[in-house]
Amino acid sequence: MYDSNYLAHRLRRASAGKEDRTFLTHASDGSAVSYGAFFHNAGRMASALRNMGVEPGDRVAVQAPKTQEMLELYVGCVLAGAVFLPLNTAYTPSEIRYFLGDATPALFVCDPANLGDLTPVAEACGVAQIRTIATDGSGSLREARDAEAPGFDPVPRGPLDLAAILYTSGTTGRSKGAMLTHRALASNSETLRDYWRFTDQDVLIHALPIFHTHGLFVATNVTLMAGGSCIFLPGFDADAIMAAMPEATALMGVPTFYTRLLQQEGLAEAAKGMRLFVSGSAPLLAETHDRWRAVTGHAILERYGMTETNMNTSNPYDGDRRAGTVGFPLPGVELKICDPETGEALPQGEIGVLEVRGDNVFAGYWQMPEKTAEELREDGFFITGDLGRIDEDGYVHIVGRAKDLIISGGFNVYPKEIEEKIDDLPGVLESAVIGVPHPDFGEAVVAVVVPLAGAEVSEAGVQEALAGELAKFKQPKRVIVLPELPRNTMGKVQKAALRSEYGDLFA
Ligand code: AMP
Repeated sequence: MYDSNYLAHRLRRASAGKEDRTFLTHASDGSAVSYGAFFHNAGRMASALRNMGVEPGDRVAVQAPKTQEMLELYVGCVLAGAVFLPLNTAYTPSEIRYFLGDATPALFVCDPANLGDLTPVAEACGVAQIRTIATDGSGSLREARDAEAPGFDPVPRGPLDLAAILYTSGTTGRSKGAMLTHRALASNSETLRDYWRFTDQDVLIHALPIFHTHGLFVATNVTLMAGGSCIFLPGFDADAIMAAMPEATALMGVPTFYTRLLQQEGLAEAAKGMRLFVSGSAPLLAETHDRWRAVTGHAILERYGMTETNMNTSNPYDGDRRAGTVGFPLPGVELKICDPETGEALPQGEIGVLEVRGDNVFAGYWQMPEKTAEELREDGFFITGDLGRIDEDGYVHIVGRAKDLIISGGFNVYPKEIEEKIDDLPGVLESAVIGVPHPDFGEAVVAVVVPLAGAEVSEAGVQEALAGELAKFKQPKRVIVLPELPRNTMGKVQKAALRSEYGDLFA
């Protein structure tokens, strides 16, 4: 009955007829939700959407706690032909005003705790319907679902219809809504399922947020498409993940998951029966990869992707998972390294901007034709804005965002090269290298360094240690020591925040 809806069919195929199998176990109380119950509820969500006046193609914006109900709403939107639009739970009402104004959803779902603040915002944006989902899943959306009879007939949707809009995290300028089609989501999750060998025997620890591509599409869709199950956590919780590991086979995380888990006692024992650890959304330090392997015996599998493209590359399942690399282009993904000025493909080994093409790539930015034309070429290649190179064995290395490239005295400086040198110094936990305006050099290299707990790190010490290691133009003109780096919820270092903080060091 799902055949006519491209993505719903593919999300349901592996579990069809296996209604009693567990799709999701709540880590909080161990209660299990079967595939039958989940899809039954998702169908009732779709009926509720229709009764609220949500038409195929309408956006459904959601800023709500990570709950089973939010996942049901996601699949309900797919079934109803609506466009699911999840929003970061950290956004403030004034940020929400921008998203609702831009996306003009037919329905906005929020946490009841924020209803007072967000109702006027939604009304000002002309949003007709508002419902709620609370941390425990209760709220007016679930009530609407429960008032519906089962048996929703999915709205027919083709491969090129929109399934979701995800706004980019955009640290500079306006956040852009990446339009993702049924085929982009389906093809990427099927590829990952096969590449990472997910089956109905897998139990994934699901601790990522579901407003972002990683937790929503990679973790959830791969589980559904494999007919496997997940242990569902409302967020990262090291103790809960440790407790879940003996029951699980796989974990998907951002690098900070792994650095935090490494501080847990009993990690080696807990991780014994696990099959796979995946990391992505931000660079995994080679040191974390090495320590994880030393403690657990597992090589973390690092992959690279983004909101606009889903996942592009992955380290191999069977072959060598190399620290500091993001592996090979996934099947069906073309990847080239291009000259940032001309767009010409560069010879192997050179650093340039990564461009990717494939079914995984988005359909453009919502209502931003000029931005779309700037970043998505007519031949289908998307200009990622990430700088990288391909080594002699074909592994892709990401060296940073193009906008983080530092040009000092006319020379290109790649922050990652300097960060790696600094991270290797005794007493250093991690670092971030940025360029800030400088009257002589245009930009000057500034290093922000975080010491290991209890270690002493000084500006002079770092500068002295790097003096013999790096060409003069790459050496930091200033070293700032901080207790931690600013990060967003996906663990990405916020370099724009550092640049604005230290922008006038040389003024
Ligand atoms: P987002 O759209 O929030 O998923 O962010 C995508 C960006 O995260 C990419 O363009 C990269 O800059 C970065 N990213 C994702 N995965 C990795 C990785 N494994 N290594 C380095 N950077 C990554």
